[in-house]
Amino acid sequence: SGSVKSDALKIMDTLHRYGYDAYIVGGAVRDRLLNQPVHDVDVASSASPEQIMGIFPASVDAGMQNGTVLIPSGKGTVTEVSTFKSLPGSRKNCILEDLALRDFTVNAMAETKEGTILDPFNGRADLDNRILRAVGDPEQRLKEDPLRVLRAIRFAVKYSFTIHADLEQAIRKYAFQLAVTAFERKGAELEKMLGSALCERDLIYFLNSPPAAHLEPLFTDRQVWLKKLQQSPAPFLTEGKAMFWFIAAGINDPEVSSRRLSKAKRSSRLKKQVSVMQEVLSSIISDGWTNVNLYKAGEELAMPCERIRALWRGEEPQTEAVLLRYHELPIKSKKDLAVNGRLLIDTFAISDGKWIGKTLKQIEKAVVRSELPNEESTLLDYIRKEVPK
Ligand code: ATP
Ligand code: MG
Repeated sequence: SGSVKSDALKIMDTLHRYGYDAYIVGGAVRDRLLNQPVHDVDVASSASPEQIMGIFPASVDAGMQNGTVLIPSGKGTVTEVSTFKSLPGSRKNCILEDLALRDFTVNAMAETKEGTILDPFNGRADLDNRILRAVGDPEQRLKEDPLRVLRAIRFAVKYSFTIHADLEQAIRKYAFQLAVTAFERKGAELEKMLGSALCERDLIYFLNSPPAAHLEPLFTDRQVWLKKLQQSPAPFLTEGKAMFWFIAAGINDPEVSSRRLSKAKRSSRLKKQVSVMQEVLSSIISDGWTNVNLYKAGEELAMPCERIRALWRGEEPQTEAVLLRYHELPIKSKKDLAVNGRLLIDTFAISDGKWIGKTLKQIEKAVVRSELPNEESTLLDYIRKEVPK
């Protein structure tokens, strides 16, 4: 984190030499004052994106319409440099106007190169008192951009901020407008919140909050989860992503979740994971683990599945036993199988892709269930005798 800051300071220095104004802004200022690790440093400057790109040849356009460019350090870190935010038609081009257009007072501070804090909205005091307050009129700010409704919950959860009463009232009033916010933006906020491990209490807080009620289609089973969570004092899911799987999975309603995730523009990897989890959960919740389900879940999903199973059944998760059983599986993936398509083609002189695929699936399942040993000659023998050609 020291290096991301020194990158930013160098960039500010260069901008100053070219005659532009530049400050560290947003989360980096807030997190430093909170003595929390700073992951990325945002810089706001009076230079336009074109001017910034002219000064830093390595810079990359990050949606110049938003006035942001990315400047890589060459060491793998990247600094985001934005032009001062300004109202349409405004010609001020100054840090004070930029800060006035930010969402919450704790996010509306700027830091000079020398370390002086600019704090026109008393964000520092709110930070000390752990209060989340809108910059300006909360209703108007939420109307302008309903995503702020969700951001408010994210910050309240992450930093244990109390949402100021006026802001809270505005959140209740405008949460419904989240329906018109782009899924990509909501998804990014959700991933920031759910992707960092939330404790059970915070998840309950989030699920109870007005924004969660308006995050269709992802949270249609909110009430079911809330009830389960409130009934069960079980140690909670600690893997960040598991939280997202857990909510997105909505095991009461498996067939719609893929559609929901598509609508929410989630990655195909996450969709695949959720569909695997649904398949595994739908069977282990009623019947317990089998080798086949462990194999399907794989190392990454076995633990989250076990935790959700236990939560759903009101039991203690058997993480160690499940992990041990996983490691004892005869094979962990198709690649471990002692036969492959090539070998079947060569041995049986059959190149029918459908037959090859079906046969391999059958063999894979039998090996996973320990019905057949994972040995080439035994498997080929079995196919010779038992699989119709
Ligand atoms: P984190 O550390 O979690 O990234 P952050 O405060 O840096 O928190 P970002 O989403 O990276 O959050 O945004 C950077 C800054 O940009 C914020 O601190 C805030 O000042 C401003 N900002 C971001 N999104 C909005 C928004 N929707 N409305 C107003 N200001 C915003
Ligand atoms: Mg940030």
